[in-house]
Amino acid sequence: MSSYKMETKCVQGGYTPGNGEPRQIPIIQSTTFKYASSADMGKLFDLEASGYFYTRLQNPTNDSVAAKICDMEGGTAAMLTSSGQAANFFAIFNIASAGDHVVASSSIYGGTFNLFSVTMKRMGIDFTFVSPDATEAELMAAFRPNTKAMFGETLANPALTVLDIELFAKVAHANGVPLIIDNTFATPVNCRPFEWGCDIVTHSTTKYMDGHGAAVGGCIVDSGKFDWTKYPDKFPGLCTPDESYHGVTYTERFGLAGAFITKATAQLMRDFGAIQAPQNAFLLNLGLESLHVRMARHCENALAVAEFLASDDRISWVTYPGLKGDKYYERAQKYMPNGTCGVVSFGVKGGRAMAEKFMGGLKIAAIETHVADARSCCLHPASATHRQMNDDELRACGVSPDLVRFSCGIESAEDLIADIKQALDACNE
Ligand SMILES: *Cc1c(COP(=O)(O)O)cnc(C)c1O
Repeated sequence: MSSYKMETKCVQGGYTPGNGEPRQIPIIQSTTFKYASSADMGKLFDLEASGYFYTRLQNPTNDSVAAKICDMEGGTAAMLTSSGQAANFFAIFNIASAGDHVVASSSIYGGTFNLFSVTMKRMGIDFTFVSPDATEAELMAAFRPNTKAMFGETLANPALTVLDIELFAKVAHANGVPLIIDNTFATPVNCRPFEWGCDIVTHSTTKYMDGHGAAVGGCIVDSGKFDWTKYPDKFPGLCTPDESYHGVTYTERFGLAGAFITKATAQLMRDFGAIQAPQNAFLLNLGLESLHVRMARHCENALAVAEFLASDDRISWVTYPGLKGDKYYERAQKYMPNGTCGVVSFGVKGGRAMAEKFMGGLKIAAIETHVADARSCCLHPASATHRQMNDDELRACGVSPDLVRFSCGIESAEDLIADIKQALDACNE
């Protein structure tokens, strides 16, 4: 980890060119790498020497960008993946197998909820979902002897709940398992979960990190702090020889700093191949260079929009953890004192039909299945992602029929508010 401030890490981290080398991270558009002898290559396959041989396992462009995100989070090792979905799948599957169990917050991204409760369940991994507001005793009660990890989101998409990271970490560690946190919405600019006891962080880099709606991607970062060797029976994959990789024992060969990411690369990336294209890693890096500047503006705009909505009597409710009076305001101040994210949820009086009419009248914010973009966008879950559900079913999963998810971009807040105002005026005419 460098000692630089976040702003400098965003711009300079991960890549330091030598004399006469390219100033910008080179895109290594090559599937493979050349060696003089089979013996040289053999050492790489045995993980005895480090180097590149095939881009499905490692690529220099991706490694530079992963090193930057690792530095930003304050971790010891990191890897890029093809998407946020792949990052969350790998982070859990690296330590949990058929017959194992994981405790996860119920307030998480819908795609992750589906991955856990349907697809990973089919692989024999059981999940217990707990409220992000559960008490310590309730969280403790969710654990079983075969529990291998605890999972949550710093700021949940789309519910905008704030995780009590310290409490979740305390309970995870009391049960001898790591806390894995999806830090997509906060980004390391606004929250560094490792500073609060979290062990492994994941990201959908598709969101603020890329920030321009250009490339789908993911990332996993390890803090290197969780001591797998204290629980060798619970984490045999990290503490005993891997017969599929020449008998290497990851914790012995790579230490706590490198064991988790090396195992995820050597086994899961080798077998599932969910790599990020080096071209996309290059685009991601361009996004990271301005992340600290953009996050501040996303948060400033979102607060201004949330305050406007809270003051307008055509709006029935507003959820934004940066807004005074919000259920999660105090917790957000503790974990994200400099700001949360650019996403605001609210209800339009008049329910489902009025919400649809309102969104149709917006001129700046486009209707998209996306968030965390430099351009403002919005979604009405009841008529899009959740359209098969009736109003009762929607309420049961925490989405009210009038809910509009508004992702504030980095345009002028004044323009965004004027646009919302004219759309409200038009549907109340
Ligand atoms: C979008 C998102 C994901 C999934 O990421 P993809 O890059 O779309 O696969 C995971 N977690 C959170 C919090 C997200 O917002």
